[in-house]
Amino acid sequence: MKCANCGNTDHRTLIDEGDTYYCSICCHRTLVATGKDDLITCPFCRRLRDRKAAYCMWCNIPINAQSDFSEKELKDLDAQIKRFEDKLDSSNIRFWKLKDKRGEI
Ligand SMILES: [Zn+2]
Ligand SMILES: [Zn+2]
Repeated sequence: MKCANCGNTDHRTLIDEGDTYYCSICCHRTLVATGKDDLITCPFCRRLRDRKAAYCMWCNIPINAQSDFSEKELKDLDAQIKRFEDKLDSSNIRFWKLKDKRGEI
């Protein structure tokens, strides 16, 4: 087992969830089948988010939330997250690798 995000291989901090394992160091899930990050594109902020997590790690919106946000609200959200991204440095292992990555809708 190896975390696809931070490279952690310590079994004590990698939690077996069946089809995925959860890294308690960086809070990312890795797919057992592929050894890759278990991520999907967030429909709200367009960042890559944990497929199994109830809330997006970037915008904090639940995956099954009603998408009744206006264009302006989503733009404001994007600007807020961009400011956060600008402040990220490599010590922030939870977000660092996902910085500047965008998924397709
Ligand atoms: Zn990790
Ligand atoms: Zn999001």
